[in-house]
Amino acid sequence: MHEMALAEGIVQIVESAARANDAQAVRAVWLELGALSHVEQEALRFSFDVVTRGTVAAGARLEVLTTPGLAWCMPCGESVDLARLGDPCPKCGSHQLQVTQGEEMRVKEIEIA
Ligand SMILES: [Zn+2]
Repeated sequence: MHEMALAEGIVQIVESAARANDAQAVRAVWLELGALSHVEQEALRFSFDVVTRGTVAAGARLEVLTTPGLAWCMPCGESVDLARLGDPCPKCGSHQLQVTQGEEMRVKEIEIA
């Protein structure tokens, strides 16, 4: 389950941000998660709850904002929506797609107490 490692990465970012802001506690964490990122949201939430125990982020809410998937279609010569990796181009059915957005995960914002 790689979500545990991802959650640990998130907590490290959150902890250093909290320290930099002299925060006593973190109330919420907003995470941008690409629709094509192979991350199970439920597993990530569970992992987040586990790894935040005993940290400044204990009990913090995890808010996930999904970034839609986008890909460049060679035959169409334009950017198209991609719901899942492995899907064909919704316009022409081609698989000659280059993912341009939707695989990333990043901490967007934290709410501190
Ligand atoms: Zn196409």
